Amino acid sequence: MFIEPSIGKTPQREKKGHIEVICGSMFSGKTEELIRRLNRALIARQKVEIFKPAIDRRYHDKDVVSHNENAIRSTPVQFADDIMLLAGNCDVVGIDEVQFFDPQIVSVASQLAQSGKRVILAGLDMDFEGRPFEPMPQLMAIAEYVTKVHAICMKCGDLASFSYRLSPAKEKVMLGEKETYEARCRKCFYEGLR
Ligand SMILES: [Zn+2]
Repeated sequence: MFIEPSIGKTPQREKKGHIEVICGSMFSGKTEELIRRLNRALIARQKVEIFKPAIDRRYHDKDVVSHNENAIRSTPVQFADDIMLLAGNCDVVGIDEVQFFDPQIVSVASQLAQSGKRVILAGLDMDFEGRPFEPMPQLMAIAEYVTKVHAICMKCGDLASFSYRLSPAKEKVMLGEKETYEARCRKCFYEGLR
């Protein structure tokens, strides 16, 4: 379990921002973990803003929704730079499905953290061919804290960190979920690719 560093305990309430990344395959509980962290901040009456790429319209337009139907309101945005304009004077910025943002998201995350905000990013770290999913590698590199969560391999029951695509479609952005993907361990993932 991720234990937050001492947030808000800095002398004179001097605001020190930082970046947290939550990454993993499909069905690994990334969004649930993001929601858990954001809900705790909300309970403590911190000002929280939540964003997601406008591309992700699988569920409701305004909610960050995870598969177990925990939801919190979020703002869909087209470009990473829009987040700078919309984040305002909040304490915590949460971003879901961060892998779908343009490369500018790296500088946006960094600027938000430098302005004293806690920035929590959740996203897929690998695409369906097992390659790093840009811009996740850059975000993981500049983050203070990286949490990799795991799914369970739907073939063998081991821990899974790969998203195996069952359909033959080739474009990277394909959003259907359970029907199209399986979480798989390394062995079952590469056996499936042969
Ligand atoms: Zn397996």
